[in-house]
Amino acid sequence: MDLRGFPTTLPEFQRVFPDDKACAKYLEQVRWPTGFTCPKCSHIGEPYRFPTRSSVVLRCRKCKANTSLTSGTVMQSTHSSLSTWFWAAYLATTQTPGQSAFQFQRQLGLSRYETAFQILHKLRACMVRPEREPIGAEHAVEVDECFVGGRTWDKGQGVHNNKATVVGAVEIRVRKDASQRSAKYRQNHKGGVPIKKLMYAGRVRLRMVDGRHHNGLISFVTENVVKGAAVFTDGWPAYDALPGLGFKHHPLVTGGNRELVEGHLPTIHLVFSNLKTWILGTHHGRIEPHHLQAYLNEYVFRFNRRFYPMTAFNSILGLAAHATSPTYEQLYSGEWRHPAA
Ligand SMILES: [Zn+2]
Repeated sequence: MDLRGFPTTLPEFQRVFPDDKACAKYLEQVRWPTGFTCPKCSHIGEPYRFPTRSSVVLRCRKCKANTSLTSGTVMQSTHSSLSTWFWAAYLATTQTPGQSAFQFQRQLGLSRYETAFQILHKLRACMVRPEREPIGAEHAVEVDECFVGGRTWDKGQGVHNNKATVVGAVEIRVRKDASQRSAKYRQNHKGGVPIKKLMYAGRVRLRMVDGRHHNGLISFVTENVVKGAAVFTDGWPAYDALPGLGFKHHPLVTGGNRELVEGHLPTIHLVFSNLKTWILGTHHGRIEPHHLQAYLNEYVFRFNRRFYPMTAFNSILGLAAHATSPTYEQLYSGEWRHPAA
């Protein structure tokens, strides 16, 4: 379990959400943390409860209006059970490689591939919200491009230059315990601390662009990075415009020396390398170019929330972003319970 009691392993998840009832309990607590409030007449108080196949209907004791626990969420009016959805959301947000519909169908024991596909598709739709807030307000940013493309993209084309270009930006954060680590390292080693050990990746942005042209790269930076931020790039001339746009530009002119580039832009290269592994491994490189941006968004969603699994979980189920979730301990200890209906 993490700090808030979010399950960090599959067995823990199973213990916390053993059945549809447990999932319903969680949904109700997230939606009405201070007790059920009738959306129709605003009456506050214990409702009547009627379990249906995929959800629970709550009936107001005053106006008798029915409210579905899943209304307004991604699970609304589907036939799959709550626990199927909960597993799906958990796997989609916490398993770093993500899921293909086929793996997913097998893992959840679903009889139809279409069901798995539709659930994943709906969860993905909740991941593709463009993230508006620019990064780099407090941290330096590395920006670079890479080429993404699988076997099928080259088929029949005879050329490799139809691979998609992806431009990325990542915040460089310094570990809070950097000075401790640095001191410890110095005790055990001669010389300085490798800078890589003291840094980690913050938030990421990725965009598919039409080649490495000036306009595409520059508008990516201006739309995703805070003006005034320190921006590290390689020596590609397209980035020369950055100082004039108010960025603190740190280009590295390498003359094509890969090692120097790795040293200058280690974090974005790590992001690209993981991205490619994911596309090749989970999706076997078979992503159509017109779907690529959606997959980039999914990757970014999971990456940026890797330290906040509960936020990611609630968010893709379509539960309000700022809803207060109960801790799982509360759910489990019975600290929060349904009075008998
Ligand atoms: Zn009512």
